Amino acid sequence: MTARSVQCPYKLASRMLHPDSTVVQVGRLAIGGSTPVVIAGPCSVENRDQILDIAQRVQKLGAHMLRGGAFKPRSSPYSFQGLGETGLQFLAEAGQATGLPVVSEVMDIENLSMICEYVDVLQIGARNMQNYPLLKAVGKTTKPVILKRGLAATIEEWLLSAEYILNEGNPNVVLCERGIRTFETSTRNTLDLNAVPVVKELSHLPIIVDPSHGTGVARYVSAMSLAAVAAGADGLMLEVHTSPETALSDGPQSLTPDEFGLLMSRMETLVSWANTVEEVPVHG
Ligand code: PEP
Ligand code: MN
Repeated sequence: MTARSVQCPYKLASRMLHPDSTVVQVGRLAIGGSTPVVIAGPCSVENRDQILDIAQRVQKLGAHMLRGGAFKPRSSPYSFQGLGETGLQFLAEAGQATGLPVVSEVMDIENLSMICEYVDVLQIGARNMQNYPLLKAVGKTTKPVILKRGLAATIEEWLLSAEYILNEGNPNVVLCERGIRTFETSTRNTLDLNAVPVVKELSHLPIIVDPSHGTGVARYVSAMSLAAVAAGADGLMLEVHTSPETALSDGPQSLTPDEFGLLMSRMETLVSWANTVEEVPVHG
């Protein structure tokens, strides 16, 4: 079967052409392997003490990777925009202190090579999912990329964005479902967990879920995290803050370390239960 003969707009991202699931390696950590990977940390790096403290806490509670934004895509130009390179220095230091690999968002090509010096994984945010020059640029790097789903993107458009990165020679793409815009106003976004089995069927790429942005409400994050793992997600991205009420961004959706710890123990129970359940044949 040649790529041309398949009625599928993406080729490199397609499971039809690449039946084996991709495992993205971040040092010793495998995303897309047998256990879900947990990426935790604040929405924004705010200062050195903040990121070092949160990093140590989430590491002790079982996180596998540390997140922290230094270049923030904010709806208002008057909101905190991130610490820029200084924030990345603090993030990298926190990563080294805890042994956790770090991920941070890249918003423009101009800062890409500088950001690559500090992070293990690049994040493309929802607002940039269709920034094609940026996708091509990260596709030319050797860093794994977490590609968030656009606010109003279909799964096909999302996979085509992944295709842009793969097409430049970077095979290490992890998709991240972070909720989409719908008519619903009870939550910040509607977390589309349908995307997990759909993406698993259509693509060989790993998919993780971000229930923090997906709900926008800290008290809903735990339920949706467990649901995501039960649906087969390869991991979670979770915002954690020691003082959500004073966070410079996304406080209302951030878990405290205690809440994060409770979720981690619930998840452990869920994962060990899931491992005991034999796969049931399905049709349709
Ligand atoms: C974030 O991870 O803090 C972020 C801005 O996410 P998204 O691009 O999904 O809104
Ligand atoms: Mn955020």
